[in-house]
Amino acid sequence: MDTYFTEYENLEVHELMLKDRPRQEAYCNAILKNKDLFKDKVVLDVGAGTGILSAFCAKAGARLVYAVEASNLATKVALDLFDENNLTGIVKVIHSKIEEFALPANAEKVDIIVSEWMGFYLLHEGMLDSVLFARDHFLKPDGLIFPSECTIYVAPCSVPALFDYWQNIDGVSMERFASKLRLQKSTRPEITYLKPADLLHEGIVFHWMSLLDVDAKELDEISFKEVVSTQVAGKHQGFCIWFDVRFPCEEEPVTLSTSPLAPKTHWKQCVVVLPKENCEVLEENSPVAFQILMKRSASGARKYNLEVELLDPNVEEHPVPCSCHMTKC
Ligand code: SAH
Repeated sequence: MDTYFTEYENLEVHELMLKDRPRQEAYCNAILKNKDLFKDKVVLDVGAGTGILSAFCAKAGARLVYAVEASNLATKVALDLFDENNLTGIVKVIHSKIEEFALPANAEKVDIIVSEWMGFYLLHEGMLDSVLFARDHFLKPDGLIFPSECTIYVAPCSVPALFDYWQNIDGVSMERFASKLRLQKSTRPEITYLKPADLLHEGIVFHWMSLLDVDAKELDEISFKEVVSTQVAGKHQGFCIWFDVRFPCEEEPVTLSTSPLAPKTHWKQCVVVLPKENCEVLEENSPVAFQILMKRSASGARKYNLEVELLDPNVEEHPVPCSCHMTKC
């Protein structure tokens, strides 16, 4: 079996997700405060894990829930969870990859797909492909997907933990250690919590997609080029990337955000750190021109290569309206 699935057999991975309150509240509210959408419906939970989302759907009034889980958690944990909560009459556990699952003969397609597939910077793990596979094979034409749309944001930022922190460690300057540390870390983005004050901009949309119509091929490569104008003065030491997802609720809209401005989640933020020679102290309204490329890694579809390139703001096309100090303006 794929090591990806055996990693999910570690209960502590699920403990982390189940203790992530913003995550739990978003799914719980989106499902249980929208009982009208779930009443008497057939639901497919893609990657059911412990079974928590299937349990929400059953409690929201679903007639039948298929809880499909590839790892051994399906038999070791999920079955027990439904038994413990008297939901075995509603939830059917299927120990299978969604790609190998088939609806029972003559069964109708499902009304709703629920899934918690998001990885670091949204796409790491590549599980969205499995949700899209489920959509294309098992969802009714007018069916719903929870969550239904997602957005990736980017903002120039300071990264004090990798720069300023090392200026004085108990009276000792450790700047040279810090530069070696950054070099060691430079091959991969830093997954860490930033503070709101570390952002030099509230964030611009890097990519948006609707799960109802996005094609898996569109996930192979996402690129973005922009000039943003800093909204506060500060040290430009990197780029912060985060995402949010929204649920198709009838009344109260529900958004799960992993922004530094939102309550902390286990996704943290993804920070691409600049080499020190490119770091600058910027005034408010300074232009930052950059280009990002997020490309599926050739070595494994579950990983992405993330490249950020700083550009010269004076030669890049400028967004309008603006209030920056660029020479062209
Ligand atoms: N729904 C649970 C678990 C989310 S973690 C919760 O919200 O707590 C994602 C789960 O999806 C993992 O348990 C993983 O094993 C499972 N998974 C990932 N890809 C899958 C696939 N292609 N088919 C079936 N299960 C999958």
